[in-house]
Amino acid sequence: MVFVTLIFCYNLIKECDCMKIFFGVEIKIMADQFNKDDILFMREALSLAERAQQLDEVPVGAIVVSGGQVIGRGFNQREMAQNALLHAEMIALDEACKNAGSWRLPDATLYVTLEPCPMCAGAMVLARVSKLVYGTADPKSGAAGSVMDICRHEKLNHRMLVISGLLAEESAGLLKNFFVKKRNNKEIVDE
Ligand SMILES: [Zn+2]
Repeated sequence: MVFVTLIFCYNLIKECDCMKIFFGVEIKIMADQFNKDDILFMREALSLAERAQQLDEVPVGAIVVSGGQVIGRGFNQREMAQNALLHAEMIALDEACKNAGSWRLPDATLYVTLEPCPMCAGAMVLARVSKLVYGTADPKSGAAGSVMDICRHEKLNHRMLVISGLLAEESAGLLKNFFVKKRNNKEIVDE
């Protein structure tokens, strides 16, 4: 009986976004439980990360989706522009706000290949993004649960649902290959 109740509660929390936020839990959903659209959108974020890599940038890609449509795309351009603000998520959010004609993106989901840093997580809170889906975690500067949790901070005026681990191996693989190559060439790149 206790077991059945536990399964029921787990499924209830898993199925309901509001419950997930209320309980402050991040349900680790296996890749085969993401829907087809999630995988499609993360694949697009991955292809943007590959574009960054081709331009010798740390390979991170992001897209913003609202109403089933992509309204913002971005890939890391920090080195090219010599601008610390030009992370993939910031560029995608900038384009999304322009397309939406609003700084508020309350129905938007942001897909990004790497867990966002504090700046990008802060920008998502400010834009009232409702959901973050990221690929691989960033134990050094992740602000969606790894180092800190700006996306679900109880004292901020907005919190979002966070789901992680979608196409994580591909996202991590891109980053790993990039930094191995840099180390082999003895180039110094900040992660
Ligand atoms: Zn960032």
